[in-house]
Amino acid sequence: NLGYTLLRDPHHNKGLAFTETERDSHYLRGLLPPAVVTQQLQEKKLMSSIRKYQVPLQKYMAMMELQQRNERLFYKLLIDNVEELLPVVYTPTVGEACQKYGSIFRRPQGLYISLKEKGKIHDVLKNWPERSIQVIVVTDGERILGLGDLGCQCLPVTIDVGTNNEELLKDEFYIGLRQKRATGQEYADLLHEFMTAVKRNYGEKVLIQFEDFANHNAFTLLAKYGTTHLVFNDDIQGTASVVLAGVVAALKLIGGTLTDHRFLFLGAGEAGTGIAELIALEMSKQTKTPLEETRKKIWLVDSKGLIISSRKESLQHFKKPWAHEHEPVKDLLGAVKAIKPTVLIGSSGVGRTFTKEIIETLASFNEKPLVMALSNPTTQSECTAEEAYTWSQGRAIFASGSPFDPFEYNGKVFVPGQANNAYIFPGFGLGLVISGAIRVHDDMLLAASEALAKQVSEENYDKGLIYPPFSNIRKISANIAANVAAKAYELGVATRLPRPANLVKYAESCMYSPVYRSYR
Ligand code: NAP
Ligand code: MN
Repeated sequence: NLGYTLLRDPHHNKGLAFTETERDSHYLRGLLPPAVVTQQLQEKKLMSSIRKYQVPLQKYMAMMELQQRNERLFYKLLIDNVEELLPVVYTPTVGEACQKYGSIFRRPQGLYISLKEKGKIHDVLKNWPERSIQVIVVTDGERILGLGDLGCQCLPVTIDVGTNNEELLKDEFYIGLRQKRATGQEYADLLHEFMTAVKRNYGEKVLIQFEDFANHNAFTLLAKYGTTHLVFNDDIQGTASVVLAGVVAALKLIGGTLTDHRFLFLGAGEAGTGIAELIALEMSKQTKTPLEETRKKIWLVDSKGLIISSRKESLQHFKKPWAHEHEPVKDLLGAVKAIKPTVLIGSSGVGRTFTKEIIETLASFNEKPLVMALSNPTTQSECTAEEAYTWSQGRAIFASGSPFDPFEYNGKVFVPGQANNAYIFPGFGLGLVISGAIRVHDDMLLAASEALAKQVSEENYDKGLIYPPFSNIRKISANIAANVAAKAYELGVATRLPRPANLVKYAESCMYSPVYRSYR
């Protein structure tokens, strides 16, 4: 029953947009009401129904339902309304969706590999219908949303080794493995089997994006597989790249070069130390100074206070490079007073930690302080846009991980930028794929940052924006992809030969298009 099957296949279904000819040739007669509509009209109808939902989670579920019914229409809607829909399918709403995933779960959308599949992962991968896979987004914790550029060639994988979340373990609707997380050798073995099976199934050029792993595994996995696989950790490297781009762009507003600035972080985990390392690397390249020197411009505070050399013994390995000589300082306010940073970055995951006193102190010795409140979702943001602007009397340059609305202060409208790795991962992945890169190199992260920072226009700067609007994400991603690919060729890790002359054009031509195809 070909027509009936076609209507239930989300990759091919067009709903009422099937033409008269297609209805004849694909056994669809009688299976659809008579109206034939355009994709534009379908979009218009969907937007009006999504806008009627007051509750963000309902909008999210409507979007997921659409993705499972008509994939092209889902991506078309998302691309054409990205500023409105990104907060629905991504932060902040996705956070709530992840928490309630067991209850809202309808249909699986990727592969689930649990401890039960140990020893069988190679065969499990063969159960996925698509053979030519270019990107795998893998998590061992939360669920993933693909952002479209790579369409169905992006495979989401959840590795389930259990959970330590007591509420989930007790929840009768929980859909995962009901046990405490496996750790140590058992964990490492499952991951290793997965990494090996992926390479055996899809070859050397498949990109494995690690997503939302806890920091005790994230750094280890990245280092372990970085030399044998094409791997990218979005939380460490994607975040680093997007924040460096924002800082570089902000220099136009706050003045000076990168090395003229002093950085203070609240939070020294994946995001914090990842960003710190990339900023130090860029400084080191710009001034031809050793990394050990440029790192000294950057200070981090964790849950125990300022990271300093006297704490070195007890620090996790990824914090050790940041243990500089200093007196003990127990909290952020103390650190702001002692270090006198020009840039303050929040990456602790704890909300409301940039207090009035902290922002006022920062603004007392900076004409234009740069404040980046990266923690997601909105409830965890270190401060709101309104607070940053008000407490600094309109002088702060502010960006945040989750979106905030524009804010008017003293008659001027400030538009906060969204410092989110969503700017980086689509273009970064595309750049690797189109060049056939076989390894990721830090210079590619710098290349991605550089391309993103260049997309900020005078008009954006006038509003205090240090990121370009998301509505341009396709153009931004093409430029990032081209710069990343160029770096891959330069480093000799690109396998797609010969190198295309115009990489931006080539990147655009490789992008997924959600426009309906005609079937004949
Ligand atoms: P992580 O690896 O767990 O690191 C969290 C860090 O914050 C740790 O160093 C921790 O200290 C510190 N911390 C926790 N509570 C603290 C407190 N009350 N005071 C001071 N320090 C505290 O987490 P992560 O992956 O870096 O993510 C952190 C946050 O960044 C999350 O909210 C995430 O949403 C956000 N993030 C945003 C983006 C973006 O694109 N905007 C990207 C990635 C992550 P200890 O080491 O002492 O425990
Ligand atoms: Mn993430």
